[in-house]
Amino acid sequence: MHAIPYGKQHITDEDIQEVVKTLRSDYLTQGPRIAEFEENFAKYVGAKHAVAVANGTAALHLSVLALNVKAGQKVITTPITFAASANCVRYCGGDLFFADIDPKTYLLDISKVRQLLEGAPKGTYSGIIPVDFAGRAINLEEYKMLADEFGCWLLEDACHAPGGYFLDSAGNKQHCGNGKFADLAIFSFHPVKHIAAGEGGMITTNNDGLYDALLNLRTHGITRDVKKLQNPMEFACGGVHSEEWPGWYMEMQTLGYNYRLTDFQAALGNSQLSRANEGLQKRQEIAQHYADAFDDDCFFQGKIRSQSGVIDGHAYHLYILEVEDRLGLYNHLRANNIYAQIHYIPVHLMPYYRQFGWKEGDLPMAEDYYKHCISLPMYPTLDRDEQDFVIEKIKEYYLG
Ligand SMILES: *Cc1c(COP(=O)(O)O)cnc(C)c1O
Repeated sequence: MHAIPYGKQHITDEDIQEVVKTLRSDYLTQGPRIAEFEENFAKYVGAKHAVAVANGTAALHLSVLALNVKAGQKVITTPITFAASANCVRYCGGDLFFADIDPKTYLLDISKVRQLLEGAPKGTYSGIIPVDFAGRAINLEEYKMLADEFGCWLLEDACHAPGGYFLDSAGNKQHCGNGKFADLAIFSFHPVKHIAAGEGGMITTNNDGLYDALLNLRTHGITRDVKKLQNPMEFACGGVHSEEWPGWYMEMQTLGYNYRLTDFQAALGNSQLSRANEGLQKRQEIAQHYADAFDDDCFFQGKIRSQSGVIDGHAYHLYILEVEDRLGLYNHLRANNIYAQIHYIPVHLMPYYRQFGWKEGDLPMAEDYYKHCISLPMYPTLDRDEQDFVIEKIKEYYLG
């Protein structure tokens, strides 16, 4: 069998044509395709605003800047995520507090977050970054109530879950990144994610003030809005009197960045977005086939634990098993050209975070999960024969 990775992008002829069309247009960066992509993406997740940026990490960085994270501020997140979810806080000099995961959902355990918040004077923590890990939408309605109680902002890392949703207390679908509960949500268009743009990211929000701040920070903190200009008009005009601001005039008022996406990446992202629901459905079918194979604990004598069935609203960026002898299985799969992956090595035990005092034993659920987790191949073009080959090799390893 040819190599089977754990994730893979799917580029169609139509995607290629959209990119080529944009390359032949007048715009390479920040042209009409950006606005189109932002508008369609906001509609897709159900948010008021969307801001396209260079990648998911830039989306996180701009988000914490817009939320005014400063040196010494304390922010809570999960250890079972990609390091970028935490790192953004460090970019601003803030401090990370990792809370443990719920071993049944693998998501940041809200009761552990509450313990942290209640264990310190009000105002100690400024924000919470919940992650829709593996594509499973975290219940943000509950997080919003908790955040309001303690005066925290909420930043949703939804990189794994475009199109995912949870059911709120009234039984309504609440899509990841819809801006109803979190102040900001971020997405990534890295090739391994649902929507590929090479590199790329998106921030969604329903908050007009945060939206303005993000647009400004994305391009060097520069504004041309005459209502906001600060210097005297005479200075702007080069020392001569005028009734109008000169056409060239702009001001850099805050320290921003260049985190722009290009127009041809937006064209690719936009074209991929039009097929997002198709991809989601394929992922759910693949998850169902894995669930059919692995849900029977007795059959594997407890050597394999799955999350039982296909979960409503789960976007299935990853399909994860918890297994005994994980290293042995991983190597057996590799020997058969199947490149399963591990998501994630707990962030608090990365050498960078150990320097702040984090150590083994601090977050037992996350650490135990890490010892057993393995992500099986999961992407829309994984065909039934390939998936059956993966299942057969896992069965072969445990049952001989
Ligand atoms: C991919 C990812 C990011 C970072 O996105 P990039 O586009 O690679 O910078 C952040 N958080 C999570 C959970 C991710 O999976």
